[in-house]
Amino acid sequence: LSESAGTRRCRIIAVANQKGGVGKTTTAINLGTALAAVGERVLIVDLDPQGNASTGLGVERHGRAISSYHVLLGEAGVSEAVVGTIIPNLGLIPSTQDLSGAEIELIEAERRAFRLRDALRGRPGGPRKRLDYDHVLIDCPPSLNLLTINAMTAADAVLVPLQCEFFALEGLSQLLATVRKVRANLNPSLDIQGVVLTMFDQRNNLSGQVAADVKSFLGDKVYETIIPRNVRISEAPSHGKPALIYDHRCVGSRAYMSLASEVIRRERAALAAA
Ligand code: ADP
Ligand code: MG
Repeated sequence: LSESAGTRRCRIIAVANQKGGVGKTTTAINLGTALAAVGERVLIVDLDPQGNASTGLGVERHGRAISSYHVLLGEAGVSEAVVGTIIPNLGLIPSTQDLSGAEIELIEAERRAFRLRDALRGRPGGPRKRLDYDHVLIDCPPSLNLLTINAMTAADAVLVPLQCEFFALEGLSQLLATVRKVRANLNPSLDIQGVVLTMFDQRNNLSGQVAADVKSFLGDKVYETIIPRNVRISEAPSHGKPALIYDHRCVGSRAYMSLASEVIRRERAALAAA
């Protein structure tokens, strides 16, 4: 690639799982905050019409005049859509309910699976855009719809949060099949960056069994860091703050710091291999 030596290259990660309530948004917010806390420049793209990442980062409705909807429809550029957050180094492209109509509005659009990719990286043949970030985390909706396909088409890799519950592995094969399809048709270099186990309950034997099963099935794709179920994590969004700001000492916050250092290690290895 034509980037001069010393330029840090941005890695784009889609945080995806078609199941709702598995910890996608919590992971995007707290991993993003943990990365920013160690000096990485981070952008979170809220690609869920529910806008939980925007709310959880304290960006109120009136701060969402330009949103991911406008970026997908080509009505705004990335830099126009980014708003600051209470965390230095952490920008957000917010979302609104409008996004739920984007799928239909894009049905006849050209390059409809590439809208986010074109916005983040530049259109093919044109100049490659240089993003002022080290990591872009895309918070996907709980579905394998066109929004998630846009995220996977734009991304270097997919990060999958998996809840430690009995049906954790069900649905994973569908997700992996989607990744293979995106790779075959839209984005050949899409990688599975890793699987992170979330909401692990120490007192529940099932959690331990699920974690062991997932590790034997997915091997070293699974992060060593396991995110525990932690009430401070679930309280934080109602204060419009990441758990890492709300209570940086709680076990959940510490787990996300540890996940961040693993992510940085994997990302650097992926960049070195590229
Ligand atoms: P998704 O984005 O996949 O739908 P969320 O990140 O919104 O999932 O999480 C679903 C719910 O579970 C939210 O209310 C969130 O606060 C809570 N939650 C997520 N992770 C944890 C955790 N580790 N401990 C306790 N509650 C959690
Ligand atoms: Mg969510």
